[in-house]
Amino acid sequence: MPIPPASRPFSPSSYRYPGEHLILGLTLGLVLVVIAATATATVCGSVLFVGLMVVMAYSTTRAHHGALMARATAVTPETAPSLWALAQASAARLGPEPVQIYVAPNASLNAYTFGLSSPKVVVLNSALLQALDADEVAFVLSHELGHVRLGHTWLNSLVGGLAGIPSPAAAFAVLHLAFMWWNRACEHSADRAGLLATANANKAISALAQVEARDAEAGSQWAEALATHPLMARRIAELRQYAASAEYRRLATTTA
Ligand SMILES: [Zn+2]
Repeated sequence: MPIPPASRPFSPSSYRYPGEHLILGLTLGLVLVVIAATATATVCGSVLFVGLMVVMAYSTTRAHHGALMARATAVTPETAPSLWALAQASAARLGPEPVQIYVAPNASLNAYTFGLSSPKVVVLNSALLQALDADEVAFVLSHELGHVRLGHTWLNSLVGGLAGIPSPAAAFAVLHLAFMWWNRACEHSADRAGLLATANANKAISALAQVEARDAEAGSQWAEALATHPLMARRIAELRQYAASAEYRRLATTTA
């Protein structure tokens, strides 16, 4: 049959299959539902994951504390009077929450703090006490008390958990780098606390320099620590700069 000449084009609505628009609407609606459900699952999963990490950190901490109690010496006025006095002086300057200080028999020049609940724990490895003089030990101890006072001790478990969220490799790398960035900033903050508490920039710097030298020799866990601890040269430069700043002089003289 011949096609009749058209006076004007057909209107699409006159021949569109019934329900095409409805189906499109339903499809778009389903896409939104899937996006919302996936996002909710991701958020819930992430919250669960972080909760799990914190619970794990808490139980690891308890186990660590138990193991430490068995072999380390708690610092008290009786067991280590001079170290106790150093700790009291630093605590008076920094005002951390209650802490327990231990000396652990360990050949690596290291100190650290851990704990989610109070009291937080500061551990000095015995090697530090042999290698460093009293002023240098005071700086290292004050640096750790600074971590406690600044909230790094418990934040570390939480932020570490957040940064460890299962994610695609690229996202994981970005989170890991951000976490290490924050960790390095924490080290600079704790170095400042150590300097403010001890007010001896030369001893602070010699303490940092020795910790680096000895640990490089020992080739101990320092490679791991380097990832979060800024290079010592950088830390020393930052601390020197801070010691020379008007801000430091003002704080050092007003709170003494
Ligand atoms: Zn530190």
